[in-house]
Amino acid sequence: SELRLLGPAEIRDLAELLDVTPTKKLGQNFVIDANTVRRIVRVAEVEPGDIVVEVGPGLGSLTLGLLEADARVVAVEIDRRLAAQLPITVEQLAPSAAGRLTVVHQDALAVTELPEQPVRLVANLPYNVSVPVLLHFLETFPTLRSGVVMVQAEVGHRIAAGPGSKVYGAPSVKAAWYGDWRTAGNVSRQIFWPVPNVDSVLVAFDRRAEPRGDEALRRRTFTLVDAAFQQRRKTLRQALSVVFGDPSSAATALEAAGISPSLRGEQLQLDDFVRLAAVA
Ligand code: SAM
Repeated sequence: SELRLLGPAEIRDLAELLDVTPTKKLGQNFVIDANTVRRIVRVAEVEPGDIVVEVGPGLGSLTLGLLEADARVVAVEIDRRLAAQLPITVEQLAPSAAGRLTVVHQDALAVTELPEQPVRLVANLPYNVSVPVLLHFLETFPTLRSGVVMVQAEVGHRIAAGPGSKVYGAPSVKAAWYGDWRTAGNVSRQIFWPVPNVDSVLVAFDRRAEPRGDEALRRRTFTLVDAAFQQRRKTLRQALSVVFGDPSSAATALEAAGISPSLRGEQLQLDDFVRLAAVA
């Protein structure tokens, strides 16, 4: 059933009540538009009974939307005041849904436990840590199957990019290790309070059915990816010499993996990096 979601007046009142001045450091831009909240929930195809992890619930805009869709929500919030207020807000606006909400007052990057059942991530991520948060959750929780997150537009396009795209980079390859990604719609900066300096984009992901490889292979792959993109303009033979000791050892490994040492990192796809990691 429809809940009362948070609009500009409710957000302002809550911020005043808590004496919260949104901080840039924590990426605190709160959604003040119920249509956007319902759109995110719709894009995420949240079903009744789904267990949804929400990173950074803030004042509860999206949390209420997820509860409206009859999900169970585990909300991880680093800001003590916001974490303390959230159950109260939900108790007031949606008392019958309060039993489906668990609030965890913690840095999302330090979360090591989640429900054991399959979970989905639906969040308006704190922008300064959006990629680390995504990679941390995907790496730490095999139960995380899919999700939809709102991130800074530039970051979202980079995550979903493939070789040949101008914004293809290390985050694109690392994200691809875990599954398939696509952008799922732009979001105007005007639906936030305070209004940020950047526009946003929705990004959807589905984890691959089988892991791409074990933890050792993942680490080796990511090390190669970091080295290859750290020096974007250099050939792989040069850029990967830090990993292999010297350019000629790098060239030997690249050739063994069937990759021309004169290519650049941005010309390789995940499969190439994985093959190289396997021979390295
Ligand atoms: N979901 C809310 C909304 O849509 O209005 C707020 C989103 S706001 C962009 C990001 C939220 O993440 C803020 O509430 C902030 O306090 C929280 N946050 C920032 N860094 C965090 C971290 N490392 N772990 C958990 N929460 C964090």
